[in-house]
Amino acid sequence: MMKNNSFGFLYEIIILIIKNCVIIHWIGCVFMDDTIVAISTALGIGAISIIRLSGNDAIKIVNKIFKGKNLEKVASHTINHGFIVDKNETIDEVLVSVMHHPKTYTTEDVVEINTHGGIASTNKVLELCLTNGARLAEPGEFTKRAFLNGRLDLTQAEAVEDIINSSTDKSLLLSVNQLTGSLKNMIINLRKDLINLMANIEVNIDYPEYEDAENITIKLLREKLIPIKNKLLDLLSESDNTKLIKDGINIAIVGRPNVGKSSLLNKFLDEEKAIVTNVEGTTRDLIEGSIIYKGIKLNFIDTAGIRKSNDLVESIGIKKSLNAIENADLIILTLNNNEEIKDEDKELLKIINNKPYIIFINKNDLESKINISNKLNSYICYGNTIDNNGIDALKNKINEMFSLDKILIKDSTYLTNARQKSLIKIAISQIDEALANLEMHTPVDIVEIDIKNAWNTLGEIIGATYKDELLNELFSNFCLGK
Ligand code: GDP
Repeated sequence: MMKNNSFGFLYEIIILIIKNCVIIHWIGCVFMDDTIVAISTALGIGAISIIRLSGNDAIKIVNKIFKGKNLEKVASHTINHGFIVDKNETIDEVLVSVMHHPKTYTTEDVVEINTHGGIASTNKVLELCLTNGARLAEPGEFTKRAFLNGRLDLTQAEAVEDIINSSTDKSLLLSVNQLTGSLKNMIINLRKDLINLMANIEVNIDYPEYEDAENITIKLLREKLIPIKNKLLDLLSESDNTKLIKDGINIAIVGRPNVGKSSLLNKFLDEEKAIVTNVEGTTRDLIEGSIIYKGIKLNFIDTAGIRKSNDLVESIGIKKSLNAIENADLIILTLNNNEEIKDEDKELLKIINNKPYIIFINKNDLESKINISNKLNSYICYGNTIDNNGIDALKNKINEMFSLDKILIKDSTYLTNARQKSLIKIAISQIDEALANLEMHTPVDIVEIDIKNAWNTLGEIIGATYKDELLNELFSNFCLGK
């Protein structure tokens, strides 16, 4: 009876693995029969544009509109010079890369047409590919195919998009690490540890007569589970700063109208991006700009001056400012050194009180009339935007508050998004559940269920199991042609 159970479980695991492969293969067969095409470079005026095709008919389709060598006969991974033609009309002189499956980005046949980078010629070549049998790719569909065909796991697919969006060296390094498979390999190894543990439990229950079978006692199970949990905890804590590295710090500059918020933004950005005038209520919308400081992006948002207003446009701006405060990681409340504190300043202090904030008292080149309480539990910096006074002090304070000097990216493994982090937290709680059950001397085959849950959850991170909605959501954020 017990033996049947054991085989039942192993059978279940094998079926699960086969099912995943079959589903992936089935999806592949049903949805990936067609050949997709998209412009893979940013559409605009540039030296070259690349139109990319992937699928069974990629080479055949391009061959129909190509004047030069017979592309169906050229060797794989070659670049071929020729012309794109529409009947007798020459559209552009091009270089065409022909790559036979499976050593391609999608593992399918891939063709890339390098055209001269004009908008008209690029669109015309795309149109010809479409009329000759290709389908316009959805955003991220090339990478989705690479995932469904097993060339990339989900973490590597996410890394592709992150590389495209990287704006600092640190965020680039983070994404490249992930693309090389560091997270994937770590998760695969942890899952192996868990599956070994489950297999050992089974053997132990059913074949106690096997002397070499490891005697899984409560003590031993705990000894094996705790290091796995610790590795997950380390991974989570090492990844504390990855959001900051990827997205930067959102800093909202707030204050009453005319205190110098736009001038402060301009000083930070070192350019005249915000409109600066002395008419109150000029900044009615949000003005944003970023700088890279200590390798981290500081995203400044210059908000509309917050005050009571009957003007509809200004009121909308003020609403947006309140939202910006809500979403900010840090607030710089700007006050005017040349005026007494007003009720609106006090109101603002109340609004931002539950957020990290710095007070910048601007216009210290003018006579001081401000009567600010020194009991305020905040860093106060005096300065002005005429001669840059106080700007470095503000930057130093930001550095100190977010420990920017200490953020180092090692050649290591990190979690780079909320999806991965939340799944790791779930896996940790499932291992905790197993440990708690061990503590209560629950039968080990019940503990095994917790271990299997953790194994499944880790599988979701790399996409060993996934839901279609997740894939649709994930790849729809990609740019077209990737
Ligand atoms: P905002 O409405 O808070 O964005 O304020 P602005 O940046 O548009 O500035 C309002 C006015 O204050 C403009 O005339 C600026 O030239 C002036 N201003 C800004 N910063 C300073 C400063 O540090 N000293 C002095 N004297 N004037 C400033």
